[in-house]
Amino acid sequence: MSVPIRVLIVEDSEDDTLLMLLELRRNSYEPTSERVDSAEAMSAALNRETWDLILSDYAMPHFSMSTALTMVQEKGLDLPFIVVSGAIGEEAAVAAMRAGAHDYVMKGNITRLAPVVERELREAEMRRERKRVEEERERLLHELEDRSKELSQLLFISSHDLQEPLVNIQGFTREMELSLQEVHSLLESGDIPPAVKEKLVATIDKDITDSLNYILAGTIKIDTLLKGLLKVSRLGRATLTIEKLNMKDLIAKVVESFEFQIRKAGAKLEVGRLPPCWGDRVQINQVFSNLIGNALKYLDPELPGIISISGRKEDNKVVYTVEDNGIGIAPEHHDTVFQIFQRVHPKDSSGEGLGLTIVRHILERHGGNIWLESEPGKGSRFHVALPIRNW
Ligand code: ADP
Repeated sequence: MSVPIRVLIVEDSEDDTLLMLLELRRNSYEPTSERVDSAEAMSAALNRETWDLILSDYAMPHFSMSTALTMVQEKGLDLPFIVVSGAIGEEAAVAAMRAGAHDYVMKGNITRLAPVVERELREAEMRRERKRVEEERERLLHELEDRSKELSQLLFISSHDLQEPLVNIQGFTREMELSLQEVHSLLESGDIPPAVKEKLVATIDKDITDSLNYILAGTIKIDTLLKGLLKVSRLGRATLTIEKLNMKDLIAKVVESFEFQIRKAGAKLEVGRLPPCWGDRVQINQVFSNLIGNALKYLDPELPGIISISGRKEDNKVVYTVEDNGIGIAPEHHDTVFQIFQRVHPKDSSGEGLGLTIVRHILERHGGNIWLESEPGKGSRFHVALPIRNW
């Protein structure tokens, strides 16, 4: 089966052009071709047609391979460009390849032409495919960025704007409580039949008061959730100031801020080797405050608590580990603990289920990540990886 192919031949000799076309035909190609031997003709041919391949002589009386190659490159075309020459010297061949030609074939050895063409067509197709995939990836990344910006904007606006009506609901509920107290005292003093009075007092004290308490409890919960959402969305908008961080100092400060809780828990805190990392001081501080805070919060009350913090360099990243011998986390919750408002041990301590969501968010913005190893009753190890930057 013959393969149709559009070949632009940069050549001053009709005979040599024929030689190349015959060789291609002999190898199952069905070439549609045009011969050019000047810049004008070359430019017109490039503008008129979409070519699959360029075969170019090295030196011609009115034109040269290097000008032809430059014209192709300036048009941004990624076409196989093969030099086919009668007597190209080793040096000229190397120079042609350096300039961007894909290969060269001696006219005296024309049987090499078809395999070279076949390989170069295949590679050009692979380059085009890679470019297509790369462009698609870029497009999807941009789309994702836009969506994520839109989403965080939406999150910010909705959590921010919902707070106002919520404050109103809370305020008016409290006002109703006060009004009820007034009604209550009026009932006590008024001239009302005892049976009616008893019924009204029961309604006020039980039904209405219960309802108001439910409303208030609900608004407090919504308030906490909205504040949490607002915190996360603010984090995504804050600008990062990346600098080289001395982690020994940073961790020492975080540990100092937990001095009271450490003493209260009777825990032992060990700090090992800590290589520096690159990050936003405030946010990286927040990461380790959350991790060390959790390590303390979820210690096993039956065991003397031991928490250790260490770090190591690994290829192109720094990995820090915060380890505790606390209550641990079952494997099925290793992913959920990073989700917003998710708590695995709600009864053991107070919290919003936001800390690890924020930690993961911060690390993602730094190009880093977080993962954990843990089992119930065997403590937890949270690993934080941050990329090393060369400045
Ligand atoms: P919070 O501590 O406010 O609940 P986090 O997002 O910091 O929220 O943590 C989510 C959940 O992951 C916690 O509720 C707890 O169940 C679990 N957790 C986090 N750190 C630890 C730890 N060091 N040991 C055991 N459980 C942990």
